[in-house]
Amino acid sequence: MRLKNKVALITGAGSGIGLQTALRFAEEGAKVVAVDIQEVNGDVVVDMIRKKGGEAAFCQADVSKAKDCERMVAFAEETYGRLDILFNNAGIMHSQDDNAETTEEDVWDLTMDVNVKGVFLGCKYGIPALRRAGGGSIINTASFVAFLGAATAQLAYTTSKGAVLAMSRELAVIHARENIRVNALCPGPLRTDLLMKFLNTEAKKQRRLVHIPMGRFGEAREMADAALFLASDESSYMTGSEMLVDGGITAAYVTPE
Ligand code: NAD
Repeated sequence: MRLKNKVALITGAGSGIGLQTALRFAEEGAKVVAVDIQEVNGDVVVDMIRKKGGEAAFCQADVSKAKDCERMVAFAEETYGRLDILFNNAGIMHSQDDNAETTEEDVWDLTMDVNVKGVFLGCKYGIPALRRAGGGSIINTASFVAFLGAATAQLAYTTSKGAVLAMSRELAVIHARENIRVNALCPGPLRTDLLMKFLNTEAKKQRRLVHIPMGRFGEAREMADAALFLASDESSYMTGSEMLVDGGITAAYVTPE
């Protein structure tokens, strides 16, 4: 019960990393506020947690909208009395996201609105709530692509994740003496809806797999375990860090055959 008596708000909780983290946090005793833009997905998560005897509530919100972010944080405090853990995890990877010449402005704007502004707004309204609780842990989902350039272009997405890293670092420094920790989780490529819809052919998958030392995509559950460590008091001396959970990708020049 590593999160006993803690209240955790997780965005993008309806699928992939957010869903697995919601389940994992609940197993460890957290009261979970599951946030997603999709009503149906969120309800499923809450049902899954309650069936296992955990505590969870759903709040439908679009993280790119200030009013929604303000409302989701208020919902967490009204429902469970406090907020201790904020996992800004919702993100999108647009199928039309490509290189500088071909990416349309609306694709760029949407990606930035959800992936960057969404994290900013989560922090804007979440930080005062964490302060009211006496401190807490913020985890922002970035990506390994913030560290490496890829010839398989997705410029808006890559740029957005670089921004999440820079934002997390600065917030960590600003709030370090308020007992509010801010860390970035940087997943490698995962076998979740987000990436598998994007890599919709075997050739596209192989083009990535050859660069992964472990030779496989990661699992959302493996990110949930990393998020659990960052959320729990076990990481009490960690702030401003970039936790890479990437199967060794960023360490590799040549991978095993
Ligand atoms: P996913 O698509 O499986 O789940 C994302 C969830 O976010 C969905 O339930 C979706 O409805 C929700 N969402 C989308 N836009 C939203 C919005 N505006 N407001 C609220 N909720 C919204 O994706 P995932 O793979 O679990 O990705 C989660 C995070 O991890 C994202 O930030 C993504 O960029 C990042 N990431 C994923 C991978 C990967 O390979 N899957 C790798 C590195 C980083």
